[in-house]
Amino acid sequence: MLAGNGDGMSSKDSSPLESRLKREITGDVLFDPFSRGRYATDASFYQIVPAGVVVPRSIDEALRALAIARDDGRIVTPRGGGTSQCGQTVNDGIVIDFSKHLNRIISLDVENRTCVVEPGIVLDDLNRQLKRHGLWFPVDVSTASRATIGGMAGNNSCGGRSLRYGTMRDNTLSMDAALADGTLLHFGETPRDLSHLNSSDSGLALFRDMLALGAREAAEIADKFPKVQRRVGGYNLDALVPRNAANNLAHLLVGSEGTLALTTQVELKLWPVIRNKVLGVCHFGSFYEAMDAAQHLVKLRPIAVELVDRTMIALGRDIAMFRPVIDATVRGDPDALLIVEFAEEDQSDNLQKLKQLSELMSDLGFGWNNPPRKWGGVVDVVEPATQTAISDFRTSGLNVMMSMKQEGKPVSFVEDCAVPLPHLADYTERLNGIFAKHGTRGTMYAHASEGCLHVRPVLNLKLEKDVKAMRAIAEETFAMVREYKGSHSGEHGDGIVRSEFHETMFGPRIIADFKEVKQRFDPGHVLNPGKIVDAPKMDDRSLFRYPPDYRIGELKTALDWSAYPGAGGGFQGAVEMCNNNGACRKLEGGVMCPSYRATRNEKDVTRGRANTLRLAISGQLGPDALASDEMMDTMKLCVSCKACRHECPTGIDMAKMKIEVLAARNARRGLSLRDRLVGFLPRYAPLFARLAPLANWRNNSPLLRALFERVAGISAKRALPEWRRDVFKPDMEVFGPADGSEVVLFADTFNRAYERENLDAALRVLVEGGYRVHIPKAADNGRALCCGRTFLSAGLVDHARIELDRLVATYAPFAARGVPIVGLEPSCLLTLRDELLSLRSDATAKNISAHALLFEEFLVREAAAGRLRLPLGPVAAKALVHGHCHQKSFGAFKPVEQVLRLIPDLNVETIESSCCGMAGAFGYGADTYQTSIEMAELSLLPAVRRADAAALVVADGTSCRHQIKDGTDRAALHVARVLAMSLDSARSNPHLSPHEKESIHG
Ligand SMILES: Cc1cc2nc3c(=O)[nH]c(=O)nc-3n(C[C@H](O)[C@H](O)[C@H](O)COP(=O)(O)OP(=O)(O)OC[C@H]3O[C@@H](n4cnc5c(N)ncnc54)[C@H](O)[C@@H]3O)c2cc1C
Ligand code: SF4
Ligand code: SF4
Repeated sequence: MLAGNGDGMSSKDSSPLESRLKREITGDVLFDPFSRGRYATDASFYQIVPAGVVVPRSIDEALRALAIARDDGRIVTPRGGGTSQCGQTVNDGIVIDFSKHLNRIISLDVENRTCVVEPGIVLDDLNRQLKRHGLWFPVDVSTASRATIGGMAGNNSCGGRSLRYGTMRDNTLSMDAALADGTLLHFGETPRDLSHLNSSDSGLALFRDMLALGAREAAEIADKFPKVQRRVGGYNLDALVPRNAANNLAHLLVGSEGTLALTTQVELKLWPVIRNKVLGVCHFGSFYEAMDAAQHLVKLRPIAVELVDRTMIALGRDIAMFRPVIDATVRGDPDALLIVEFAEEDQSDNLQKLKQLSELMSDLGFGWNNPPRKWGGVVDVVEPATQTAISDFRTSGLNVMMSMKQEGKPVSFVEDCAVPLPHLADYTERLNGIFAKHGTRGTMYAHASEGCLHVRPVLNLKLEKDVKAMRAIAEETFAMVREYKGSHSGEHGDGIVRSEFHETMFGPRIIADFKEVKQRFDPGHVLNPGKIVDAPKMDDRSLFRYPPDYRIGELKTALDWSAYPGAGGGFQGAVEMCNNNGACRKLEGGVMCPSYRATRNEKDVTRGRANTLRLAISGQLGPDALASDEMMDTMKLCVSCKACRHECPTGIDMAKMKIEVLAARNARRGLSLRDRLVGFLPRYAPLFARLAPLANWRNNSPLLRALFERVAGISAKRALPEWRRDVFKPDMEVFGPADGSEVVLFADTFNRAYERENLDAALRVLVEGGYRVHIPKAADNGRALCCGRTFLSAGLVDHARIELDRLVATYAPFAARGVPIVGLEPSCLLTLRDELLSLRSDATAKNISAHALLFEEFLVREAAAGRLRLPLGPVAAKALVHGHCHQKSFGAFKPVEQVLRLIPDLNVETIESSCCGMAGAFGYGADTYQTSIEMAELSLLPAVRRADAAALVVADGTSCRHQIKDGTDRAALHVARVLAMSLDSARSNPHLSPHEKESIHG
């Protein structure tokens, strides 16, 4: 069972503390093992279970939580996005999560380019708000979509462009913070003569002592602090050294990792947004030559020089998202690329810089026709979209690396050492030698301009021998870094990984100074102890996420997980793929993770779910945790949108994992009435259709609605889809010309039962397009075919398998002769591309999967081949399109836009939306109705309400259309209906040219 593995404080009974916190704090107070487990990890390999978590609604509440915890003898660890890589945010005691509620801009001074923010604001969110003022905060960490300003200040974070903008410290003007004893102080520019400073007595005494320490230790600091920009290790004692008449004492707090004070607000220096930029992609035939060239390239004053090495290029080429940009910008077979970025005010200056870059490369002896060692040159990237694509590829470097499925993973511990540029080539060469000596390898990427390369040797930290190798690599690497007068902690901070090495790197006197600072700020060691000073050994396995006794018990799974290693046929490996990088906490862009966007709870984000699963299958949440109520609660708001499958850098497929949880639950606890109603819908649909008026009675009777909510948990606020007698049930099995190209039309349950107009329209479009359309009856002559989707969503895997077996048997002869299988409902058709293969991996199933296409995918493919002959006429001036999550997850949304663009005069606009919130049965649940509406209100419904009344609203998903109707009273259309309307228009419009009417699209 989950227990704290820290300093023993957690063994104390937490009930009185928990009750007091719950009495005095209105925000969440989480002391249950599942919640504590979710806050036990960050993006490091450590795990320390806190005694409890507080999610305060205000700064006052955060300070009250600090006081209550301190009175109870607990330690306190502040936390933002929890993306630290060195174990900064894991600790015993109480974790205070600033990210959910404390995320406002308090004030903004556009003229003087400054702002004051609460610590929980996410960088991307801040920059979105600053953009309209032409400003931005330029410490552009790779985790900008979830890193908070409080966490960035805590770690003294650095962006890829720190060459121009500096680190977090350089951009922090002042901070307000509370000491462990609750004293609130303002830290900012402080005159060395304190006689006129307005602060409390205790504040003045603290400032005086710190300035005195700086004066006393000036010589030692000058001697022992590395002279590289990327030095984020230890406390910033150099901020205390007398240089001018004043010192900025906020800079001592920056990088203090929550060990000195709780930050309550931060004043930031802002910069004008970059308006113009260009990239020069420098190619090198040898990695050493690339590293050696960096010191010369920086002389052209770029804002960044970023490394991408051979391994990363190869891994990137295997990822569909990155392949096009690699093909467009990478020439030949380089060993390394240096991406040099210029951002002068005037674009002509940037172009001039590119010219100088090419000249410099050739002065350094590189040429496209040279032998391998001096082979190279520059590919200019001027077009903004390509620049964004290549930057996305670069910043996804770590994630690209982490997509390895094997047991050994790239491990972060010497990941961000920085050395002076003239030593970079020798340093990297020797580093590779150290890795090889210990039987491993590492891929290097990132900030060549600062001599700060990211590198993660591949190790399996479940094995003692690899843990020993990690320690040896760390010791040898840090010794080498010291030799080059570099910094052992150049970007990600100290945490547990680096702190024990401070003594070797800075010497004993500076360590005594660090301890003096800690003692003076926090004499009771309340704030995040064990980081920066008094740290445990970095290889103390009892603090690891995978400690020596980590075991997965017997695990029976329903689906195929064989692509991964470990128990449960690989389920263990799939779950352990989550490295806590937090990309699922992004608040905008893409789809992942809609439930988190609605609630901002760690429980409701992919990371929280993956961590809960890992703890459950490894027995850390007690027996039978996989089938427990708490696990169900963790999965409850997962709408199975499959966005994580596509957008999570390590490919966590939570929708698939949820099926396992539901299956385990069903096996232990049986099926709820609601799950029964949802799961078996395809089976009872024919009967309900026959009884249509009676079956629809519930919608019209408030009493029945209330009753349904009580007994089946279906929200009384929702109308259920209306049953009808005239379901789609064609008499024939074949339509269209005998010599037409063959296609199978899959009539899914939803469109068949509720919206036959879509199937009628699709059939008509296909027939008028000249196709021979098959709608075969089931091979067993039984009920209509079904993809098993509803059964899967209820965890009824065996029933889904039965349905899919029937479907495979029916469609096998068609797939065998290459006939495409076309469907309308994304969640149904794409089941054939996805879950089918998790249930059956035989050649027939694979062939059916390979031939499954969405209606619009099929048409676009035909158009591209010049075979699509459809007489289309205008239907409206504008179509507003919402993509179904599964379309987006499978990269199948673009064809919707493409096919709509075949319609004359139609302006196609896509709504930037995440999940519609209806998500199958999710939106109908009484307990999930509210979240469903909140998801829809994030962007989809407001966009539809804003749309012109004459615009068409297009959505291929049955649930999406329902949500749009419920939320805006507008009827959204399947793309098949829009095309059918366009056929009508062409027929009825005498003004269309013959060419428009008989258009062949290609
Ligand atoms: C894939 C990946 C890429 C990364 N890329 C970069 C990069 O490009 N540059 C970079 O610098 N880092 C990078 N990091 C590290 C990390 O993302 C950054 O350090 C980030 O700024 C941390 O922000 P956070 O909100 O997650 O902070 P957290 O991890 O939650 O906290 C960081 C520290 O700040 C403290 N803290 C948080 N809030 C407060 C508060 N209110 N008061 C006092 N202390 C507080 C915490 O106790 C902790 O010690 C990367 C990490 C990952 C996983
Ligand atoms: S689920 Fe994916 S995106 Fe989220 S933290 Fe885990 S690995 Fe990162
Ligand atoms: S399937 Fe969707 S809702 Fe569920 S965890 Fe993944 S992104 Fe979040």
